[in-house]
Amino acid sequence: MKLTFSLIFVLFALSGNVFGQTINRPAIVIHGGAGTIERHLLSDSLETIIRTALQDALNAGYAVLENGGTAVDAVEATITLLENCPEFNAGKGAVMTDVGTHELDASIMDGSDLNAGAVAGVKTVKSPILAARTVMVRSPHVMLAGEGAEEFAKQEGLEMVDNTYFTTPRIQKRWDESHKGEGSNVPKSKFSKFGTVGCVALDKDGNIAAGTSTGGMMNKKYGRIGDSPIIGAGTYADNETCGVSCTGHGEYFIRIGVAKEISDQMKFGKKTLKEAAEYTVNEHLSGMNAQGGIIAMDKDGNFELVFNTPGMYRGYKNATDEKVMIYGDE
Ligand code: ASP
Repeated sequence: MKLTFSLIFVLFALSGNVFGQTINRPAIVIHGGAGTIERHLLSDSLETIIRTALQDALNAGYAVLENGGTAVDAVEATITLLENCPEFNAGKGAVMTDVGTHELDASIMDGSDLNAGAVAGVKTVKSPILAARTVMVRSPHVMLAGEGAEEFAKQEGLEMVDNTYFTTPRIQKRWDESHKGEGSNVPKSKFSKFGTVGCVALDKDGNIAAGTSTGGMMNKKYGRIGDSPIIGAGTYADNETCGVSCTGHGEYFIRIGVAKEISDQMKFGKKTLKEAAEYTVNEHLSGMNAQGGIIAMDKDGNFELVFNTPGMYRGYKNATDEKVMIYGDE
């Protein structure tokens, strides 16, 4: 009797359907930032570049998972690719500080053991997400900042670059425009976006990982650090609940503890992923007039891509479906 029950359960699990509930494993979701991203503000060529980059990143991460790689491996592979794409605010193409330099933040979390790593305010580490993972697995710490983080990355043999490596003509132009005239202002362009990149992956073994990488906010000052490298704010992963990566106005995401709030609602409030994500973005963040979005996935591969801005660069891929989206109406 017991044997028959076990056999039926295994057969259902293999077919991806346990007691009417679909399990999509492995699966991956990504974002490339939220903001005032509207059809009439994006050229056709830029739209094609963005859609292709998002699709390539999804494919890279999903290939890792399909080949039996871990969720952490998939997050690293996906985010590294997005960091190297100059259209996103992470790695090459990251926004500039008020004094025209780049200071990068990133974090990664493994939901299987709640291990996590982060770097903040780094200027010469080529891949901040790789540095974050190295902090997680090769140091006893969770977050390293500034010069110490760079020294650690160097000692670990990570690729280092000059700070100007991250500058692109597009970002330089935005910075120049924002510094015309007296003082400095955040650019007044109608098309504004946060542009941070993030990924949540669920591997074949049911492990969830999440990661986020960013240049922060344009014209930030005084060593400002946003939510992206802060575990619980911009990134969180727990196999028991979900993985989350955020993009938006970091100061608010830190104050709410957005990523952990979503996880906690599931753990302690018994909410579904959908209920938790929608509450945090559409009620809690919106109630504070805070802009941004989140991507999140639970242990069964259910996912949510929620934002309170006109658009968010985003996508998902699992065994049965995949899609890349930009605008509110896709
Ligand atoms: N959340 C990031 C920050 O505040 C910005 C972004 O999402 O692009 O640093």
